[in-house]
Amino acid sequence: MFEHIQVAPADPILGLNDAYRNETNPNKINLGVGVYKDEAGATPILKSVKQAEERLVKNEKTKSYLSIEGPEAYRDAVQALLFGADHEIIAKQRARTAQSPGGTGALRIAAEFIKKHLPGATVWVSNPTWANHQSVFQSVGLEVGSYAYYDATTKSLDFEAMLASLSQVPEGDVVLFHGCCHNPTGIDPTTEQWAQLAKLCSKQGFLPLFDFAYQGFGSGLEEDATGLRIFLNQVQEMLIANSFSKNFGLYNERVGALTVVCETSDHADAAFSQVKRCIRANYSNPPAHGSAVVSEILNDPQLRSLWEMELQAMRTRIHEMRSLFVSTLRAKGVAQDFSFISKQQGMFSFSGLTPDQVAQLRSEFGIYIVGSGRISVAGMTKDNMEPLCDAIAKVLAD
Ligand code: PMP
Repeated sequence: MFEHIQVAPADPILGLNDAYRNETNPNKINLGVGVYKDEAGATPILKSVKQAEERLVKNEKTKSYLSIEGPEAYRDAVQALLFGADHEIIAKQRARTAQSPGGTGALRIAAEFIKKHLPGATVWVSNPTWANHQSVFQSVGLEVGSYAYYDATTKSLDFEAMLASLSQVPEGDVVLFHGCCHNPTGIDPTTEQWAQLAKLCSKQGFLPLFDFAYQGFGSGLEEDATGLRIFLNQVQEMLIANSFSKNFGLYNERVGALTVVCETSDHADAAFSQVKRCIRANYSNPPAHGSAVVSEILNDPQLRSLWEMELQAMRTRIHEMRSLFVSTLRAKGVAQDFSFISKQQGMFSFSGLTPDQVAQLRSEFGIYIVGSGRISVAGMTKDNMEPLCDAIAKVLAD
């Protein structure tokens, strides 16, 4: 039965991580996978998470199933983080949130919901976008289109082209926006541009789907929600897939949420009943630990302020590495202008390195970068910056 099955291609990002693990060069550097690393190159458990876990272990009384949508304290905390606690969407109960296994799980449930309840809708993603977006939507049989985003010549957002392609999106289709820290380019719309996009969305009548995987990694928890909140002033309906993998460092606990925003509370009840049906047929109900940690932290003032400090430290280190990378390359006499890297947000940037240069960095120096030239800035440290920039200077000169 299975003899005809062909080997699937390795995942372009996770496959790179496997190859890195097997790399024998003692000076190897991993700028591939999107996991935060501290100055020592480690991905430690946050102190706030450890403290929350200690409390949970002590107080936990059962391992019985959670509800399909997950605990209320968690879901309320997610909404407060997304909208701001005083938002009228919360007061008017226009949103419903379901816990999900990571941001990917939220996107997958969103995909199934769209496929069943918005028949014929195409999902539009930015060009480029996170490598898994296309697979998640296509795996439920949705059509995926792409809209203009990145200008490789200026290494910036091609906003005119973005507006032009989104004005072709018909009513009833779905457009995916990266809430902040666009993956893979590191380039987000400005506040004014978000406002124009929201206006266009309302004029065209497409449904915005926000993929919000990096809240707090760009400029701050509130600042990073700017685009999302501008949209919510302009449109009545939205889907939001958020992840706590990065901002809580809870990667392997698989914790995130899907939030449906509707025009009225009644619409929200109906839509949410269908979201719950998708979940029930998928994984039945979510795992408990990750969401318990997140809600323990978000609902406790002391743990929350510790978490916010830790999040700020991660954000600051990334910004510092961006600046140091640019200045070190300059000090090495690299003529090419890399200053755009220090203006971008989040863990990723498009370096502009060609596939050949990426291959040379790997074979000669044990430096691992995704083939597209996307670099994870979080993989840089003060210790590896010199050898990294020496190697890049070398391949640029060849
Ligand atoms: N969306 C984007 C843009 C991402 O970068 C990621 C993680 N790399 C995800 C979603 C998925 O997050 P999670 O690991 O929580 O599934």
